Amino acid sequence: FTDADIVGQPLSDFETPERTQRKMEAIQAALATGKVQVYEQSVQIQGEVRYEEVRCAPMVPDRVLFMYRDITDRKAAELALQASEERRRLALELTQTGSWEFDLITGEANWSDSHYRLMGLTPGSVPSNYLTWRDYVHPEDLERTETAFKTAIDNHCPLEVEYRVIHPDGTERWMLTKGRGIYDPDGNPKKMTGVMFDISDRKAAEFERQRLHAQLKIQATIDSLTQVANRRQFETVFAQVWPQHRRQRQPLALMMVDIDHFKAYNDHYGHLAGDDCLKQVAKVLSDCAHRASDLVARYGGEEFIILLPNTEASGALTLAELMQTEIAALHISHVASPTQPYVTFSICIAANTPPTHPSPDAPIPAADPDLYSAHKTRRPTCTHWIYQND
Ligand code: GH3
Ligand code: MG
Ligand code: MG
Repeated sequence: FTDADIVGQPLSDFETPERTQRKMEAIQAALATGKVQVYEQSVQIQGEVRYEEVRCAPMVPDRVLFMYRDITDRKAAELALQASEERRRLALELTQTGSWEFDLITGEANWSDSHYRLMGLTPGSVPSNYLTWRDYVHPEDLERTETAFKTAIDNHCPLEVEYRVIHPDGTERWMLTKGRGIYDPDGNPKKMTGVMFDISDRKAAEFERQRLHAQLKIQATIDSLTQVANRRQFETVFAQVWPQHRRQRQPLALMMVDIDHFKAYNDHYGHLAGDDCLKQVAKVLSDCAHRASDLVARYGGEEFIILLPNTEASGALTLAELMQTEIAALHISHVASPTQPYVTFSICIAANTPPTHPSPDAPIPAADPDLYSAHKTRRPTCTHWIYQND
């Protein structure tokens, strides 16, 4: 417009009815209250939409001053921010991510609706602050979680912590919280802000994997029928124990136990009874070899091997006799045995201080020819080490 266009003309001649209306309202309000009136409006200039901020200031009685400012750029930035804020909020809602902000000075917090829901709460139903949050954290995880928060704040590093929350109905859920501190220019912590996700499904899968792993580990070391160690486990332990005893010049005893006429027992009583007999024998052996470092292992079908660290030949012999007394006392019927009407086993002992010379190799107990003659006499025999290279 030029001055000529507008001076002395009624507003309605060059303004749209809406703009005129808004302007009249501002004028009235400014004159009535004596205060500056501010509003925003859009305007079409040469086909382009622009935004302006209008200020209407009361001047002398019955006069006002209008000031216009082009705020198109600010408006665009604001709209973009609003849109990105809206996208962020939507993303958090859709991924069920809770967002939170803790005021470290007042203890007040700000939780998104998702955050409330992740804690099993209706949005806004309880005050969002530090004390409320504590109430819903699993007691076993509280100290660890608080320490993680404190460490992150103190060290100016990102927070990442997994903990359980307990819903009001008692349900336990695993949460992952990530966040960071907000500091004043002097570096003093002011706030902490972050997000929280429910990772219960991932945790459940993780625990299942751990359980399976532990189970596999046990399966790999335990004989499933008798529940004593298996041959592999014996070999692993023996490989550690042998050089230790050799270095320290400590005595070490090995016992080979072989159930007498076990084939005949199986043939007569059946495999299930045979299995049961093996379990009873394993129990007798484990009960007798009761030192924490003793290891009873199933070596083969009806053969067991017993590792007795720090044990002299005489001690091993006493133990072997005790084992034979104990199995005899059980009186497990064995009518097919040509020697005794009940189950017995033969024991061969190898005991000595492992030599440092000539061979550092471990002995192979099963190679002992005495072992195979032992059950003929049904007496524990005592031999010296047999070397691999013998
Ligand atoms: P010897 O010790 O003098 O060699 O004779 P034996 O009759 O005691 O033993 P042998 O080595 O001839 O046969 C072992 C038997 O052990 C054969 C097999 O049926 C039985 N056996 C091996 N493993 C198992 C098992 O897991 N369960 C059962 N029930 N029997 C088994
Ligand atoms: Mg045998
Ligand atoms: Mg046998």
